[in-house]
Amino acid sequence: MANENRYIHNALKQARIKEKSYTLSGFSISGLATYHLMQELDFIVDLGECPLNAVPIDHVFLTHAHGDHSRCLMRHHSLRKMTGIERDSVYYLPEEICENARAWIKAEAMFENVPEYKFRCPEIVPMRANEKVTLAYRKDLVLEAFPIKHSIPGMGCTLYRFKKKLKDEYLGATPTELIELQKNKVQITREVFDPAITFMGDCKSESLLDNPQVFNSEVLVTECTFLDDGEEDMARQKSHSHLNDIVKIFNDLGEAIKCKTIVFNHFSMKYSEQHIMGTLEKKLPDFVKERVKVLI
Ligand SMILES: [Zn+2]
Ligand SMILES: [Zn+2]
Repeated sequence: MANENRYIHNALKQARIKEKSYTLSGFSISGLATYHLMQELDFIVDLGECPLNAVPIDHVFLTHAHGDHSRCLMRHHSLRKMTGIERDSVYYLPEEICENARAWIKAEAMFENVPEYKFRCPEIVPMRANEKVTLAYRKDLVLEAFPIKHSIPGMGCTLYRFKKKLKDEYLGATPTELIELQKNKVQITREVFDPAITFMGDCKSESLLDNPQVFNSEVLVTECTFLDDGEEDMARQKSHSHLNDIVKIFNDLGEAIKCKTIVFNHFSMKYSEQHIMGTLEKKLPDFVKERVKVLI
């Protein structure tokens, strides 16, 4: 492996992308490890590695069961106990993989000779497609998982900021009038869900088009495992995304892409940083280039 790749292939070395109210930090190279931390949102997506700054974060969503995305779930859970964090972390998993996850977690504990009477499975919340679930300790954040196409069952997810806003017809009302309306049990607010960040997980490029909230999300994190011409069929066979297919989708959608930031992750480990940056520069259409960042 070329020396220049030592940096981008070190899973504990976190890349950082600064957004307005939070920083997305983490690592994502195909086959090695993928994890994304959002400290300010108290939210993690995938745990292919578990650096110490992931440990205090309470909510974790796993996109699918491939080891480079999931293998540190129990490390996260155990390190919390070891570092004296009392509160239980909550693991949100696609419904389809929950039963296997529980069996795997138990097997891992048995492998470590944890006595059966001491074993306690961490809290797992099954995520069903397009169902909105409020995060356990963050009532202002709502999680929604959605189906994607990958080689094994998996889901992407969108994290929404949840607010109650005054209905338009009451915008001109005085505080006294509003109190009076509330006393009379009139519903004066409406629920607003702003899609803050969407993670596609591992998927074929076409999954971007299957879920309408994806391109309305303020930040979109999408995999881009393959970059080079001639690798398109291989990408489809391996159920991953190819840059050429993503570019086609971007060009077709044009102004319908509302995302302020688009983060590419999960590049194949065969590419160097220089190759990744050079290829993106060459292939991305101008209208999105400014918005694209890479998690390397
Ligand atoms: Zn992967
Ligand atoms: Zn995968």
